[in-house]
Amino acid sequence: MASLTLDNVQKTFGHTEVLRGINIGIEDGDFLVLVGPSGCGKSTLLNMIAGLDDISGGTVMIGEEQVNHLHPSERDIAMVFQSYALYPNMSVEQNISFGLEMRGVPKEKRDKLIADVSAMLQIEHLLKRKPGQLSGGQRQRVAMGRALVRDPKIFLFDEPLSNLDAKLRVDMRTEIKRLHQRLKATIVYVTHDQIEAMTLATKIAIMKDGVLQQLGSPEQVYDDPANVFVATFMGSPS
Ligand code: ADP
Ligand code: MG
Repeated sequence: MASLTLDNVQKTFGHTEVLRGINIGIEDGDFLVLVGPSGCGKSTLLNMIAGLDDISGGTVMIGEEQVNHLHPSERDIAMVFQSYALYPNMSVEQNISFGLEMRGVPKEKRDKLIADVSAMLQIEHLLKRKPGQLSGGQRQRVAMGRALVRDPKIFLFDEPLSNLDAKLRVDMRTEIKRLHQRLKATIVYVTHDQIEAMTLATKIAIMKDGVLQQLGSPEQVYDDPANVFVATFMGSPS
């Protein structure tokens, strides 16, 4: 696991500035939740960390390493999306195993990792099924399993629970919190659900129009909002 430092991160699409100089530092083991209205630049910021798109300015550091020019596969991160992005023709086991095979992890070690992770996520009984035979919640567990086996330096989650119904969202939230505590993982997690943010975060970053409004603990942003936008967005008492 590693710390993450974003220094003056900028992203422009054509003439549109989508990220306007974002500065965020988190420690090894932090759970950073990025919140803000739709279109404020949350997914774009994750893509800058993951290397899925070119950065227009500034630097991204994972641990002590500047990763601006590293390919996503060289950054040692794992990403979980809202849409799961599972391979439909592969079994659950193959979905989890695939990335490990690509990196040449031997079969014995793969089997051990898959057993550990599927026990942790309680999906052992689903390993032979195809994604089409799973519920939304089960698919999301598999997507998390695929990220967990890679044991990355940083986990990136982009609204992973927003396709689930309310009850399941609460269950998965509890589970993600438990996994974070158990793995001592460094996580950057995007949501537009304020309750989810307050429950999961060790640090919250609130964005608006590509500008960071405040970075702080859940208590800080709730009790001592930096401006009216933060107070309104986080539902702070006035
Ligand atoms: P969020 O995840 O907070 O909802 P996004 O990061 O997806 O926001 O998008 C931020 C802004 O950048 C939006 O206005 C969006 O339309 C724009 N944007 C995102 N991706 C592209 C792209 N590939 N080309 C042009 N504009 C984009
Ligand atoms: Mg988004």
